[in-house]
Amino acid sequence: MNRTILVTGGAGFIGSALVRHLIRHTSARVVNVDSLTYAGTLGSLADVVDSPRYVWERVDIRDRPALKDVFDRHGPNAVFHLAAESHVDRSIDGPAAFVDTNLVGTFNLLQAAREAWSADAGHARLQNKNAAHPFRFIHVSTDEVFGSLGETGAFTADSPYRPNSPYAASKAGADHLARAWYHTYGFPVIVTNCSNNFGPYQFPEKLIPHMILCAIEGRDLPVYGKGANVRDWIFVEDHVRGLVRALEAGRPGMAYLFGGDAQRRNLDVVRAICELLDGMSPAPDGRGHRERIRFVADRPGHDERYAIDATDTREELGWSPEGTFEEHLRTTVAWYVSREDWWGPIRSGAYRGERLGMLR
Ligand code: NAD
Repeated sequence: MNRTILVTGGAGFIGSALVRHLIRHTSARVVNVDSLTYAGTLGSLADVVDSPRYVWERVDIRDRPALKDVFDRHGPNAVFHLAAESHVDRSIDGPAAFVDTNLVGTFNLLQAAREAWSADAGHARLQNKNAAHPFRFIHVSTDEVFGSLGETGAFTADSPYRPNSPYAASKAGADHLARAWYHTYGFPVIVTNCSNNFGPYQFPEKLIPHMILCAIEGRDLPVYGKGANVRDWIFVEDHVRGLVRALEAGRPGMAYLFGGDAQRRNLDVVRAICELLDGMSPAPDGRGHRERIRFVADRPGHDERYAIDATDTREELGWSPEGTFEEHLRTTVAWYVSREDWWGPIRSGAYRGERLGMLR
């Protein structure tokens, strides 16, 4: 039996990488549920849009009747839930959308999926169906739910929840709902918590593409605070492979952590981008891009360090990240240098590079 996989947020950065992966590497039908907020870009799906196995449903996860209709019509037997408001700075400016989409939207999706699963479970028992592809709901979350680390240590699945930003708090709340739906209803939920992703097709409000585009455009490169905050970077395609492994081999009720084993200070990431661009897209005045780095007011409540200990995930799912941070950064910088057709419309419309998330 061919599988139907529903992906929410499939027009976003990670969601589109997942949809492209599923269409290229599996025989599944893929239903992309995405309302296309400022962060959604259909151009990220240009490679798969003509596949007869791909469908886009322009549905807002805050709209429960519309979600029910999607489940009724498509009967998915797996869900990857990625739709979210995802930018910490925007959550400082306007937390309401984060509560609405990340928390209430996740609740709606859990309810719609559970109703469809309950109906299908009874049916499947009678027909002895679905043995090869038991239903799974993969709830995709972030390591930011665990708060900030000091100089040492790393997050594991046993780390306490200590979210610090409105974004992290809304994701933490959604993780708790997902967990409760497993424990209370036996609904087969798997939670994944991942570190900072980077790669092609990332919306240019996030650190790496923001810096690349500022440099290409000849602007200053605004580094928050002293640039000392540390993130554990993972290439988006490694994360996507991990999500698929969670679907194939993960156990309901479990949380799996994905990290890239690449802790870097923000300032070092920006400097590495500058060096790559000095070769790929030199500044017209011949000066090094590094000279345009400027230290600006820090993000309010900026978490100091995130790091993931993915040992358990690696062992249980047989997953590990491939390649090095430096190789993937080169790939990413080269992609942005050559893909103004993708980011140009965003830069002249949805996001022009302005500073977000300042307390007023
Ligand atoms: P993104 O902002 O690039 O994409 C989000 C997508 O969700 C967009 O296509 C948007 O249109 C859609 N969306 C938003 N609100 C919606 C709604 N109410 N209804 C339907 N669709 C809606 O996000 P991303 O960076 O790809 O992150 C995807 C998921 O992974 C999020 O849940 C995020 O919390 C999580 N995550 C991201 C990272 C990261 O580094 N980017 C790390 C760990 C976890």
